[in-house]
Amino acid sequence: MLITGGAGFLGSHLCDRLIGMGHQVVCLDNLVTGSMDNLAHLLGHERFTYVHYNVCDYLYVEGPLDAVMHFASPASPQDYLEFPIATLKVGALGTHKALGLAKAKNARFLLASTSEVYGDPLVSPQSEAYWGNVNPISPRGVYDEAKRFAEAMTMAYHRYHGLDSRIVRIFNTYGPRMRPHDGRVVSNFIVQALSGKPLTVFGTGKQTRSFCYVDDLIEGITRLLLAPSDRTPKQRTDRQSFLYEKNDSPLVESVHEPINIGNPQELTVLEIAKRVQALSGTQVPLEFKPLPADDPKVRCPDIRRAKELLGWEPKVSLDEGLRRTIEYFRKKLA
Ligand code: UDP
Repeated sequence: MLITGGAGFLGSHLCDRLIGMGHQVVCLDNLVTGSMDNLAHLLGHERFTYVHYNVCDYLYVEGPLDAVMHFASPASPQDYLEFPIATLKVGALGTHKALGLAKAKNARFLLASTSEVYGDPLVSPQSEAYWGNVNPISPRGVYDEAKRFAEAMTMAYHRYHGLDSRIVRIFNTYGPRMRPHDGRVVSNFIVQALSGKPLTVFGTGKQTRSFCYVDDLIEGITRLLLAPSDRTPKQRTDRQSFLYEKNDSPLVESVHEPINIGNPQELTVLEIAKRVQALSGTQVPLEFKPLPADDPKVRCPDIRRAKELLGWEPKVSLDEGLRRTIEYFRKKLA
């Protein structure tokens, strides 16, 4: 199996899971936002290979591949604002290369997409049927549009080439291996609390997010990866029928269409700040800062599809997940 972005927060947890299941794993990463610290324990493992590589370049690996998983991309708003063009390129060119490799190897393909495809949503919770509300020219549009393009490209390979593809729309996730200065809210608050600094709340703090612990997310992604295909690629020879598929076709409930994976417990940013204060045992104050442009006002996954198709739902409570993450950062910062 091949994972692009395997040195990142989610990519490295996925490498661990697949190695643990007995698979052979090739990990590609150019370490723009990933880190070798996340893979140190796997280096030297007989079933693990790391290659320093920019996946926007032509992709080739020797031998057979069962699956290609495209996780490479800056994923924190702070990162995609710092690397806007790299974000667009890895979502567009990188996805194209990863799809091409999967097609050449007759491998299954899994795209790491995002709840950002829903933009600043006008409906909540967001089901996969919602088309989203994205501003293409806002600073965060680089990530949203790159992932929307990546989804469109993946579905085109599925429909036109019969590629056995999957798309996971990942909602906010937290846990060990987030970078201390990643910029995302949970890691920021924990690092700030543990260093005795004020928690930086953007805007009023009344905007909502729904946080999934990383182990739950990886379980959902693994189930999606391993779920049987609706039809094998060989049966997909009648291209016309796929091009003119109707919305009422059984494929609407297909593992090849996007699936939300996230925890539907919705909280305001102020509520997250309070949980971090309580669980870290610190009484640092809050410091209000301006809200970034086009910061979504609400976000909450509708996970009925994941429940029905994969039998998946999150298991780790917010307090338990936060405790484990605080513990990780305590050691990391020590
Ligand atoms: N946020 C915050 N303080 C921080 C970092 C983020 O209040 O130090 C807010 C941010 O404005 C957003 C929410 O927390 O409303 C989640 O931000 P994050 O960057 O974690 O992810 P997003 O869901 O926006 O991609």
